[in-house]
Amino acid sequence: PKTVERIAAGEVVERPASVVKELVENSLDADASRIAVSVENGGIDGVRVADDGSGMDEEAVRRAVEEHTTSKITDVEDLERGVHTLGFRGEALHAIGAVSRLSITTRPRGEARGTELVVEGGDVERSKPAGCPEGTTVEVADLFYNVPARRKYLKRPATEADHVQRVVTGYALANPDVAVSFEADGRERFATPGRGDRRSAVMAVYGREVASAMVPIEGDASALPDGPLENVSGLVSHPETTRASREYCSAFVNGRYVTASAVREAIVDAYGTQLAPDRYPFAVVFLDVDPATVDVNVHPRKLEVRFADEAGAREQVRAAVERALLDE
Ligand code: ADP
Ligand code: MG
Repeated sequence: PKTVERIAAGEVVERPASVVKELVENSLDADASRIAVSVENGGIDGVRVADDGSGMDEEAVRRAVEEHTTSKITDVEDLERGVHTLGFRGEALHAIGAVSRLSITTRPRGEARGTELVVEGGDVERSKPAGCPEGTTVEVADLFYNVPARRKYLKRPATEADHVQRVVTGYALANPDVAVSFEADGRERFATPGRGDRRSAVMAVYGREVASAMVPIEGDASALPDGPLENVSGLVSHPETTRASREYCSAFVNGRYVTASAVREAIVDAYGTQLAPDRYPFAVVFLDVDPATVDVNVHPRKLEVRFADEAGAREQVRAAVERALLDE
C-alpha cells in the first residue's frame, strides 16, 4: 500500500494489544466457544488468535482483508457506532494487514475444506485451499515492519505483553461462557473453562485467592449519582482480603474493552477511602452509556476512551464501587 495508507492504518492499529482486541472481538462476533490467544515477544513479533467460530469461505476471507471504501472512519455516526457495537464496519483486518504479515486459515462450519490467505503489507500474496479445523486462526507477524516510525513507539516487549494480557483478561471475564486462553512466549498465563459463570472465569485469570475476595458491583442509574453512565456492574476485590502492589482494572464501555483513566482513577479512589495504601484493586467493570456522551474525538480503534463528562462518570463509578465494598 501507499505510504499514506500505511500511516492511516498505523493510526488505527496502535500496538499489539489493539490487534488482539480486534481479533478477539471478531472471534466473539463469529460465535466462538473457544478462543486461544498467544503472543511472541509481547506481540511485536507475533500474535495468534485461534477460534472455533463460524469461519469464512474463500470469498469471504478475501473480502475481509480488502479495503472497505464504504466505511469512512471520519464519519461521526461511525464513530458512535464503533463505541456502541463490537463490529466496526470492516476496517480492522485491512488495517492490520497493511502494517504486518498477516495470515488467515479458516474453514466454515460443516464445509469440507478451508482456505489459507496470506497478506503482506496490505497485498494478498496468496490464497489456497488448506486442511484446517473448523473456525479461524489469524496470525499477525512483524507488526509495523513497514512503518518504522510506529515501531519505534512500541514499548518493551514485557510492557506490550502486559497490555495484551489486560485485553485478553477483560474479554475472558466479560465472556465467561467462552473458553479463553492466553499464552506468552510459549507459557500459558491462564485459561478459563468457559462454563458460563463469571466466578470460575475470575478464578482462572486471577487465581483462587483473588476470586474468592471479589464482590459484585451492581448499580443502575437510579442508584448512582447524576452522570453519563446508565449502568455500572462488575466485580471488585475486597481490600481486606487481597493485597496487590498495583491495580488490575479492566473496563468495558458498551461491551468494548477500553482504557479509561476516569474509571481506573475512580476505582483506586474508592479503594483509597476504604483502607490501606499498599492495597490495590483487581476489578472488572462494565459501563452502559449513551454513545453520544462518549468523546468522539478519541478514535474508537484506540483503546483510550474519554467521556464528555469525565467528572460525572468518575463519581458514578466511585459510588458504585464504594457501595459494593461497603455492602460486604
Ligand atoms: P468488522 O469486524 O468490523 O466487520 P473486520 O475487519 O474486523 O471488520 O472483519 C471483517 C470481516 O471478516 C468480519 O465482518 C467477518 O465477516 C469476517 N471475520 C473476521 N474475523 C473472523 C473470524 N474470526 N471468524 C469469522 N469471520 C471473521
Ligand atoms: Mg472486527
